[in-house]
Amino acid sequence: MKITDIETWCIQVGGRPSEGAVQTDFGGARNWLFVRVETDEGVYGVGEGSGWPRVIETAVLDLKHALVGEDPAHIDRLWNRMLLAFQGHGQVGTVGGGAMTAIEMALWDIKGKVLGQPVWNLLGGAFRKRIPVYGHAKTPEQARALMARGYRAFKVSSTGAPDVDRVAAVREAVGPERDVMVDAHGPSWMTVKDAIILGRALEPLDLLFYEDPIAPENIDGYARIRDALDIPLAAGERVSTIWGMRPLIERELVDVIQPDTGRAGGVTQMRKMAAMAEAHYISMAPHSGSLGPLAEFAALHVMATIPNGLMLERIEFDWPGRYEVVTPVLEVVDGHIALPTAPGLGVDIVEEALERYPSSRNVRDVPADDGWAFEPGTADENLYFQTRLRRRHKLHRRS
Ligand SMILES: [Mg+2]
Repeated sequence: MKITDIETWCIQVGGRPSEGAVQTDFGGARNWLFVRVETDEGVYGVGEGSGWPRVIETAVLDLKHALVGEDPAHIDRLWNRMLLAFQGHGQVGTVGGGAMTAIEMALWDIKGKVLGQPVWNLLGGAFRKRIPVYGHAKTPEQARALMARGYRAFKVSSTGAPDVDRVAAVREAVGPERDVMVDAHGPSWMTVKDAIILGRALEPLDLLFYEDPIAPENIDGYARIRDALDIPLAAGERVSTIWGMRPLIERELVDVIQPDTGRAGGVTQMRKMAAMAEAHYISMAPHSGSLGPLAEFAALHVMATIPNGLMLERIEFDWPGRYEVVTPVLEVVDGHIALPTAPGLGVDIVEEALERYPSSRNVRDVPADDGWAFEPGTADENLYFQTRLRRRHKLHRRS
């Protein structure tokens, strides 16, 4: 069998910004990239790459020449062939990671279809037949809506310093028996000291984890926060490959790693990260925030096969198109998604649906000159250290 072609679909998620039809709060930023690797025997595989999808699409098409004519069975060899093919452009980064991920995922899909087995069965079999998931809730109302749909774990996200009162309200709404976590996300990013001050205020709320409290490249800062707080830490959604994840694991800076299934490097890279984490008693909870629904299938296969799989992030209400562009549609039952059983990844793209949402832009809306820039408390004002007023509001509001 030989690879004959790689096709791509990049779609605008949440409406086209040029038409003012954004249905979400992504500000025109969100795109999803799907790929299809074709073979000379009619079998094909599908994959998804995240990170900066419009740019990743170019990277995927550039990598095509390293893959066409090759036998798709030799997944790890082809992955390394891609790695070598673009090393002249620097480190792997988000774009390289996204491109290799999309293609590698599709190669696993092909292998599963050829062998008539779901991918999880080719990876050593399943520890679990259903994968626990968590949803996003910024308010008690949103948490209750998710609970009504069977969710048992809830993440309160913010852009920058988390609002402790808001987290407390969600904790109160879901009760002491369900899991609550906090994602500080950024930008703007907190300083290490602010992250510790906030973390101390969050400690009594019995969080499952405190995610991305500081900028991801601030590795030494993670060590200071880890030592200062009695609260599990989570990070890693922005990095690609085992080398990107290595410092967080090797120095045991976090309790949970969060590789993004669309840009971590692929199914095998995720498995390798999980094994590295396992050796350090660290769990894995894959990131799904900017992903489409195809990579979610790959995450389920990986999570089924690792002993340290904690929980999968799940986006439920972002955009109705989520439920049109692939088939089948995954469902959450009692806080879990059942493992796919069809050969390969168990998912396919719906071409007609993808063609309804052509990509037009992949960066956030930035109004030019309307007083938006340099507003107090925004990342424009100060990327890391916020002004006294902002800090007083966020850090000492409860007094
Ligand atoms: Mg996050």
